[in-house]
Amino acid sequence: MGKPMTDGSLDVAWIHGEPGEPAIQVHRYDAGTVILRQSKRLNYEAPFMFLLFGADRALLLDTGATEDPATFPLRETVDGLVAEWLEQHPREGYELVVAHTHGHGDHVAGDVQFADRPHTTVVAREAEAVRDFFGFGADWPTGSVRFDLGGRELTLIGSPGHHAASVTVHDPETGFLLTGDTVLPGRLYAFDFPAFVATLDRLVAFTAEHRVTHVIGCHVEMSGKPGHDYPIGAQFQPDERAPQMTPAQLAAVRDAAAAVADRRGVHRFDDFVVYNEPRKRDMLRLMARGLANKALARLRPPAAAGR
Ligand SMILES: [Zn+2]
Repeated sequence: MGKPMTDGSLDVAWIHGEPGEPAIQVHRYDAGTVILRQSKRLNYEAPFMFLLFGADRALLLDTGATEDPATFPLRETVDGLVAEWLEQHPREGYELVVAHTHGHGDHVAGDVQFADRPHTTVVAREAEAVRDFFGFGADWPTGSVRFDLGGRELTLIGSPGHHAASVTVHDPETGFLLTGDTVLPGRLYAFDFPAFVATLDRLVAFTAEHRVTHVIGCHVEMSGKPGHDYPIGAQFQPDERAPQMTPAQLAAVRDAAAAVADRRGVHRFDDFVVYNEPRKRDMLRLMARGLANKALARLRPPAAAGR
């Protein structure tokens, strides 16, 4: 329960779909921790990605929603950040491990850019590959495993519910709990609801025993207005929330999920929306709202629409 060893800042103006913004925003949280965000103008999912440096290897957690290095220069960005770190911490054969919060397309698309990178391991997206690589064994998903970057030992917690291969990563150095799409200020799609609730129970229990400063997922969909999410597909979110949530908000997600466990469908709360094993009609309604929003945006003059 010690104090985190670093004290970085999350006081960031994140890119959110303005014209001319970069394809990838780089936020150096501290000397060994970088948060990346993909632009909404490239892909509405605009996922966050994380680069954590240890003495022996770095971990890139997620590779974004776009393959093409010409429009989405993730490899170039990561190579630059690794070179920058190695300038401060010179060593030979420094490794990069590319792994994922889960296997959905908007978190693995940039994997191809790392296929030929020297000293690099790309962990496949399937649940079995993730379990084998990190050594979960028969303990999946209830056990947790350690993954040592060299003087920086992460804990990985099996987190199925949103996706069969979902993991949560805890970093004792920053106190970050990186929750992928399991917990975030937006739509929580729980395709296997009992697994989702069990995962949330484990995350809340873990947080009670460990120092967690920020709970950070991979997307932001809530606006500043309580209970209001941007439509799916939105590529401009001027009033979006910060990505980080508090341990208390994590507990609120667990309590909310437990409260609606026997009610399939969409359940709206101030800081998130729970999709309990969404039915076809729930998803169609979501898509219809997204399409209507897109059509409206096209009718508005560009200045008024802000894009
Ligand atoms: Zn996602």
